Amino acid sequence: MARGKKIYEGKAKTLYEGPEPGTIIQYFKDDATAFNAVKKDTLDGKGALNNLLCEHFMLGLNTIGLPTHFIRRLNVREQLVHKVEIVPLEIIVRNVAAGSFSKMFNIEEGTPLPRPIVEFCLKDDSLGDPLVSEEHILAMNWASSNEIDDMREIALRVNDFLAGLMYGIGIKLVDFKIEVGRQFEDDLQRLILADEISPDSCRLWDVETNQKLDKDVFRRDLGSLTDAYSEVARRLGILPKNGGSTGPKLVE
Ligand code: UDP
Repeated sequence: MARGKKIYEGKAKTLYEGPEPGTIIQYFKDDATAFNAVKKDTLDGKGALNNLLCEHFMLGLNTIGLPTHFIRRLNVREQLVHKVEIVPLEIIVRNVAAGSFSKMFNIEEGTPLPRPIVEFCLKDDSLGDPLVSEEHILAMNWASSNEIDDMREIALRVNDFLAGLMYGIGIKLVDFKIEVGRQFEDDLQRLILADEISPDSCRLWDVETNQKLDKDVFRRDLGSLTDAYSEVARRLGILPKNGGSTGPKLVE
């Protein structure tokens, strides 16, 4: 499918105009970045794995009735999605203490939380995506009160779905980040899940060993990131069980 004009290039994805109005092509790059792009590398096969994993999660969420921007995967690296107006917030759900939460509250990584915690961060790399309160969001008009309720509901539904899916393959869903967008249809406006869900934006630990199967492998130099993502894909049945360790073969 012919790509249109480049709209936006992010750290892990590039967006192009889609074939029809209201559509976008998401291209998954092999680039990995961490610590606000201070650490960077290109990892063969990462984009293809994230495209496959993201497709799997989005299709599952569509099936349980959670509206997402996903239309279909086009090829190894690209998927067709609905164009939305991205809400400038990162929504994080935490089931287990880790990362910035552990640092902020001095709680040991791996400590289970009494209930899922939903956080909002402002999507602004130059500020380091600061944590913001509902008060900030409303006063600064980043989202309305109804949208905050909808974002919480979407985030918790994604959490229940993903946590269950992961539990079934021996993986603990520690935390994850999502983004949502406004979709306009005639006079109606609603929030739908957008961006991506992949091991780049989740913390996934093996239930038995606590081995990390997510982007912390890259952030903390714990081994091969594509091996970790391939392991998740194999357990989900997306890659063959006895497949190679470097992910799918790229056919551009
Ligand atoms: N996360 C993300 N993008 C960001 C910040 C966080 O995808 O810009 C994800 C991250 O992978 C983790 C969760 O959100 O699964 C919580 O991240 P945290 O706030 O602990 O930040 P970190 O320690 O990763 O800087």
